[in-house]
Amino acid sequence: MKQYAILQKSHFADFISALAVEQSVMAPVAKGYDNYAFEPVTRASQIALKHIPTILPPKKYFMPPSETILEYSRREGEAVHPVVEYEKMILFGVHTCDLMGVQCLNMALSEHPEDINYLSRKNKIAIIGLECEDYCDEYASCHLMANDLPNGGYDAFFTDLGDYFIIHLNTQMGDDVLGRTKLIEPSTESHWDELMKFREKKRSVFKNEVPVTHQKIKEVFDNAWKSPVWSDIAKRCLACSNCTNVCPTCYCFDVVDEPDLDLITGRRRRKWDSCQSASFARVAGGESFREDRGAKQRHRYYRKFKYPVERFFRYFCTGCGRCSRTCMAKINLKETLTSLVKELN
Ligand code: SF4
Ligand code: SF4
Repeated sequence: MKQYAILQKSHFADFISALAVEQSVMAPVAKGYDNYAFEPVTRASQIALKHIPTILPPKKYFMPPSETILEYSRREGEAVHPVVEYEKMILFGVHTCDLMGVQCLNMALSEHPEDINYLSRKNKIAIIGLECEDYCDEYASCHLMANDLPNGGYDAFFTDLGDYFIIHLNTQMGDDVLGRTKLIEPSTESHWDELMKFREKKRSVFKNEVPVTHQKIKEVFDNAWKSPVWSDIAKRCLACSNCTNVCPTCYCFDVVDEPDLDLITGRRRRKWDSCQSASFARVAGGESFREDRGAKQRHRYYRKFKYPVERFFRYFCTGCGRCSRTCMAKINLKETLTSLVKELN
């Protein structure tokens, strides 16, 4: 397998058409008012090559907002059987922050017991990354979270260098999928030099977005449990759950049984749930062990910046900025982090 290849921009339209003939291609599509969504595409003209993070992250293809996980029948001789539905597809145009989001989910959902539905989809979806050359907007903190530059998690990765894309072929799947288009060409030393120049320029653009180092964030959260920041957030938070619904690393779900009208057959479904919703922490007897909105928000932040460090040795925030972008109460993750950092100093 060759490591690097190029695709001439003049061949991009044919490239997307060739991929779409073979299987479903999902890519960012402009939805108006600077909103983007991953949707099925068949033509290159549908794709927004320059886009800020999509409303929902690519997570929706690996773990849909709602899915059937088993079907049952109480008729004699019939039983419960698990349902694992997946579609072979190509995700094109995934930014480095969302690649990291998928890497986080891979870790969490590969733990015992493995999430078979997630992992089955993961094995069937080819991911083609696309490099950003500048900040998406003021909400992004990808440099702080150490993923403004590519760090794996893709089958192939595109960097736009003007007249052509340079492509890192990272897996056999990536090599096979792109090779079948017969449109990619071998790269030369000069293409590689151009990529190095691009990255050098990028390093001067992406700078610390919050006054703390990546390593020190852990210390900030060792100190933050009793911070007044949480009561300030509690006064503003509407508990709408938008921030968790759009987060690429949130994976909590609720399970509901749906009996058919015959009361003999039915199915069990799971759907995304959120630590911000009132019912999430409610237990038998109607008690809730995390009633206060400040405590709910603290839990959300600790699930990004403290608990995963103890378990997976990494933060579970990609710096995508979706939570701040979507919050109706204008609760801003970078501002919250900055306030917590000030308390440490
Ligand atoms: S999006 Fe904002 S208002 Fe809604 S739950 Fe999250 S922090 Fe609270
Ligand atoms: S916490 Fe916010 S910035 Fe971090 S990954 Fe989730 S949505 Fe993105």
